[in-house]
Amino acid sequence: MNVSDSERVASQLERLGYSIADSEETADVVLLNTCSVREKAEQKLYTRAGQLKRVEGPRKIVGVMGCVAQLEGNNLFKQDRGIDFVIGTKAVGRVGDAIAAAVEGEKRILDLGEREEDYDWLPIKSQRHSPYVAFVPIIEGCNKFCTYCIVPFSRGREKSLEASEIIRHVLELRREGVKEVHLIGQNVNSYRPKSESGLEAFKGTTPFSRLLRAVAATGIERVKFTTSFPRDYHADITDAINEHENLCNWVHLPVQSGSDSVLRAMKRGHTVESYKKKVDSIRSSPRNISLSTDIIVGFPGETEKDFMETCDLFEYCEYDSAYIFKYSPRPGTPAAELEDDVSTDQKKHRFLELEKIQRKMLQRSFERKKGSVLRVLAEKPSGREGQLSGHSPCQTVVNFEGDEEHLGTIVDVVVTEAKRNTLFGEIR
Ligand code: SAH
Ligand code: SF4
Repeated sequence: MNVSDSERVASQLERLGYSIADSEETADVVLLNTCSVREKAEQKLYTRAGQLKRVEGPRKIVGVMGCVAQLEGNNLFKQDRGIDFVIGTKAVGRVGDAIAAAVEGEKRILDLGEREEDYDWLPIKSQRHSPYVAFVPIIEGCNKFCTYCIVPFSRGREKSLEASEIIRHVLELRREGVKEVHLIGQNVNSYRPKSESGLEAFKGTTPFSRLLRAVAATGIERVKFTTSFPRDYHADITDAINEHENLCNWVHLPVQSGSDSVLRAMKRGHTVESYKKKVDSIRSSPRNISLSTDIIVGFPGETEKDFMETCDLFEYCEYDSAYIFKYSPRPGTPAAELEDDVSTDQKKHRFLELEKIQRKMLQRSFERKKGSVLRVLAEKPSGREGQLSGHSPCQTVVNFEGDEEHLGTIVDVVVTEAKRNTLFGEIR
């Protein structure tokens, strides 16, 4: 979501006549886009702002956007950190105004206001992270209020974009040569637009599955989507994947914990059993859908037994990838009121244990893939001479021998080797 925000701000600034500088040393304006999901991410802002103050040459205009900007607001002007403006998560359409005001000499510019009605969600080609893969936001914010999470406070309530607008964006991207779109949102499957306009012709019990079918019908080569909230994951999503080849066989379904008592304390709205049922149904798809997840270790009160249950669930689900996080109390969330009673050492130990299981599962999955053919979108040079890198529909990174002419095309790659998180292969 932050990368996507940055692409749109860069687009806005390019339209206003600015261009991206080669480095922070040569830049006149530096924008720090921030994350506050975990303390470490938040701490980075203060470190970076400090480094910028020490850069030699004329003083730069420094702006902060993103979640820390939204949550901290005026506080960021304290302690003389050299910050000129602070732009909240919904005010990013007005970064250009803030820079103009700072150029005029205005100090401590703060905008935590609402998003414009006509906010342009589509970044321009030159500012997208890839010419072939594009992010398409479909919903912003979150209403779930998991007890550990800051997102509902930093990103506000859920708001879905109109389906007709999303379809227009996908068609535009397709015209510009994009091969793969990622529909993004904190919880994409909680998608609930104000009107069904644009979805009438599509089947499915939830608006999200109808949207998936509508996006598939644009004819774009590949569609991926992330993140799916387990409680809102229904079989109609798997049905849509089963029936549309261009809906990719990958579901990111964060479980967070394998213990019912921890899940209750997190207020996730799912149990181990209900989650397993969803995994079983996804696994029964003939598309061989790959699964990934997010896990938090060391939530307040998590016992060794709770953690063992997480390990069991982990093995049961056979995830293809997992983001594992150590619990980090976020001020203002209900969990921050609880005693952070799992020691740093225990958190680290549990993190490493899960990582070990993950590596074992990944190796098994990679072994199964050896000799098979994957349809890989050639996205960029891998960094190795004569080698390209891209993703399979199931979101595995695949490197293979190839030339520039392959870039932006989907090629059949025979998998020959597996190393850590990457598969290697040859074009068939
Ligand atoms: N909406 C998504 C996740 C958004 S945040 C979902 O519900 O799955 C991304 C991930 O950060 C979460 O899935 C969670 O695993 C992790 N996370 C969020 N708050 C955290 C905290 N306080 N400490 C550690 N990890 C956290
Ligand atoms: Fe945070 Fe829960 Fe919302 Fe995900 S669903 S963003 S974890 S509150």
